Amino acid sequence: MTDRFAGMIGIDLGTTLSCAAYLARDGVPTTVPNREGDLLTPSVVLVEDNGVIVGREAKRTECLYPTRTAVCVKRDMGNEYFSQPLGGFDYRPEVLSGIILRRIKADVETRLWPVDEAVITVPAYFDDTRRKATQDAGQIAGLNVLDIINEPTAAALSYAFSAHLKHGEAASFHEFTEREMTALVYDLGGGTFDVSLVRISPNRFETLATDGDVRLGGKDWDDVIINYAADEFFRQFDEDPRTDPESRAVLSLAAEQAKHALSVRSATRLMVMHAGQRLPIEITRNLFDELTAPLLERTRATTDLVVESAGLVWEDVDRVLLVGGMTRMPQVRRMLRELTGLEADGSLAADEVVAHGAAIHGGILRSRGLSAADNPQLARWSNFTTIDVTAHSLGICVRTDRGYANSVLIPKNARLPATHTRLFQTHSANQRQVRIRVLQGDAPDADACLQIGEFVLENLPPNLPAQSPIEVECRYGSDGRIKVIGRDPASGRLAETTLIRPVGIPEAELKQAAEQVAQLTIG
Ligand code: AMP
Repeated sequence: MTDRFAGMIGIDLGTTLSCAAYLARDGVPTTVPNREGDLLTPSVVLVEDNGVIVGREAKRTECLYPTRTAVCVKRDMGNEYFSQPLGGFDYRPEVLSGIILRRIKADVETRLWPVDEAVITVPAYFDDTRRKATQDAGQIAGLNVLDIINEPTAAALSYAFSAHLKHGEAASFHEFTEREMTALVYDLGGGTFDVSLVRISPNRFETLATDGDVRLGGKDWDDVIINYAADEFFRQFDEDPRTDPESRAVLSLAAEQAKHALSVRSATRLMVMHAGQRLPIEITRNLFDELTAPLLERTRATTDLVVESAGLVWEDVDRVLLVGGMTRMPQVRRMLRELTGLEADGSLAADEVVAHGAAIHGGILRSRGLSAADNPQLARWSNFTTIDVTAHSLGICVRTDRGYANSVLIPKNARLPATHTRLFQTHSANQRQVRIRVLQGDAPDADACLQIGEFVLENLPPNLPAQSPIEVECRYGSDGRIKVIGRDPASGRLAETTLIRPVGIPEAELKQAAEQVAQLTIG
């Protein structure tokens, strides 16, 4: 049997840790250990004079080289530059993520086969700019990005697949889902929080609603411990370890380890070292839970909202699936039990499930159009469809008597792909061009939304009266990518169809970055 899955991997490009999986010949998703033999690779890059180091070693030496080490790059995806210069140079987040992906690709290649295609996951709440940045990072790493899919979708796919395996060898997905199942996917990772409501039914997988926070994750829980310990140290010695990059980096590692310890024990200790002084600090789980309660509450409120925005009540939800390393904290399970009345299902490997789902999605894409005679393994997925929803409302900025307003064309949680056309009007007589500003967000006020791009419809016919119609079509693709088209209905003239992004790598620079990363020595 030829290995139709060869050359394709699923990648969970995480804020703190990344994971790669492939589909074995029998179609079972399998995590690929990295060169150190670990299943997870820290998403950390150390920039050296003659190359870069990625992963465990870069994380371990972060305290020694804080100004050369990039952590939490994912939080900056979509921005022009990474939050701090590295070794005196500004780096684009796409390039740093591209370096991490290149290392993952190289590690898989030493174990399996040459990798050319990948499905990369993103938080459902990632906007178009961040999705495009992730896709560009894949290209910089020398990968053909088959698709970008949402992390909760990937997790639920993986859950569905493992449920299928548990129920024995079935010929199609629908044999393991005898009835429709509605599941809540609560995904709290190192840097982002995502929550989605998904419905798994025979041969169909549908996201009903999604929400989240791209700036809420394990790092924030770590910061609570860092601040508590640093305040105690300051009280004792009148010195603040947060002001020195090395002391802060050491404290940051100790805080994360203390957080892990508190998932399994009721108290732990950490050592704060700064300015020649040392202070052991005890922290109990009760205190930790109390100090981090506002963070957990933010996830609770968003989780509640997601069920409401899907038009459902908690009685409609059959399963709660946990994804992301942070869901090992007892406070998460307790909160979800109180909120949902259900015991969360922790049967999935929280750190690997997203990469597994990405690999499965790649398998589904490759299986399109196959018959059972072609390949029985893949053919069982050939009719399986996944439906996602928009994570953000998409609108156009319009001028009104009271200033600029957001005219929403595609609302949040609309099914993807979604297309909507609306007629707008020119403002003044003889207007020769129209500037179309594309907004993301629900607020009625344009200034309260994020402008994700703009383009100009030029060369309108002369002497158009004021209030002449202009047609604007918004397309939200299945991968969450956006296209907006402006048209003058009288002449049929089209405006620029690509978004002029406020940030993002220009095409020529992208090619150059890919060439440079290909030449880099990555350790
Ligand atoms: P992920 O992005 O899903 O890989 O999650 C990584 C986050 O999970 C980091 O903030 C880790 O510190 C955190 N994490 C991993 N294991 C544990 C644990 N046992 N208890 C608490 N947090 C954990």
